[in-house]
Amino acid sequence: MTKPKITVIGSINMDLVTETNVVPVQGETVRGENFHTIPGGKGANQAVAAARLGADVTMIGRVGDDAFGEELLNNLRNEHIHVDHVERLNQTPTGLANIILSDQDNRIIIVAGANGEVTTEYIEQVKQSILDSDYVLLQFEIPKETITFCIDFCQEHNIPVIINPAPAMELDNASWEKATYITPNETEKEQLFGDTLSEHLITTKGKDGVTFVEDRAEKSVPSHAVEVVDTTGAGDTFNGALAVALAEGKSLTEAVTFANAAAALSVGKMGAQGGMPTREQVLQFLR
Ligand code: ADP
Repeated sequence: MTKPKITVIGSINMDLVTETNVVPVQGETVRGENFHTIPGGKGANQAVAAARLGADVTMIGRVGDDAFGEELLNNLRNEHIHVDHVERLNQTPTGLANIILSDQDNRIIIVAGANGEVTTEYIEQVKQSILDSDYVLLQFEIPKETITFCIDFCQEHNIPVIINPAPAMELDNASWEKATYITPNETEKEQLFGDTLSEHLITTKGKDGVTFVEDRAEKSVPSHAVEVVDTTGAGDTFNGALAVALAEGKSLTEAVTFANAAAALSVGKMGAQGGMPTREQVLQFLR
C-alpha cells in the first residue's frame, strides 16, 4: 500500500517546562525543582502522530535561526517528516511555550515567534506540496488569515482538510463550511458551535469518548479505559491519526475508532510526542 500523503500547516514550538513547588509573586525569586525542553506545538505534534502511524508527512511552518529551531528541525527529521518547507527566519525567534508546572496550578506563556510569520505569502511559495497531498491538517496556532487562506485553497483544489480549532478562535461560517471535518474538544465545541449538530463536526470528549455525525445519525465511540500518565497531546494524536485513516479511505466510524485508540495509547506516557504510538501498536491494541 502506498503511504497517504498528509500535509500539516501549523506551529512548531519548544516547550520550556519548569517544575516548581513555589510560584513566585511579582519581584520574588524562588528555587525551582526541575527543567526540561520538550518539542511541541500543535502542528508539529500532529505531524509526528501522523508520521508514526504510517503517513508520508510534509510539515509547512517556520522556526527561528536559533538553537531551538535547529533542535526542532532535527526532531521532525528523526520522525521522517519532510522539512523542506520549514523555513528558518533569522530575525524572529522559534515559537515557544513557557510552562510553569506546580502542584497548585500550571501557568503557560506562549510566544508565537516564527509561527506568527507563517503568512499567506509563504503558503503561496510552498503551495505545490499542498496540491500534492491527500489530506491537509490545520490548527489555530498560526495567523488567522493564513488559516482561512489555506481553507479556501484546499476547497478550490478539492483537497480534504481537517480543522482542529485549538486554541478556540471564531471563523466565519463560510470558512467552517469548507472544512471536510472540524475536530474541537468539548470546550472548544461549546465555545464555537454551542448545540449545533453538523456533519462536519467530530467532538473529542477526553475519557468520555468521541461524538460525530455519519449518514445523518449522531454516533459515538467510547474511550478506552487506560492508565493515564499525561494527557498532553491526546488531541494532537487523535487528529494525526484521524487524517491518516481518512486519507487511507477508511469510513468515518473506522477512522474515529482508529484515532480514538491511538489517542488512548498516547496518554500512557509523558509528553505530547513521547506517548504517540506507532501503527503496529495501534493495530495490536485494537485486536
Ligand atoms: P484535547 O487533548 O485536545 O483536549 P481530549 O481531551 O478530548 O482532547 O482528548 C482527545 C482524545 O484522546 C479523546 O477523544 C480520547 O480518544 C483520547 N483520550 C483523552 N483522554 C483520555 C483518557 N483519560 N482515557 C482514554 N482516552 C483519552
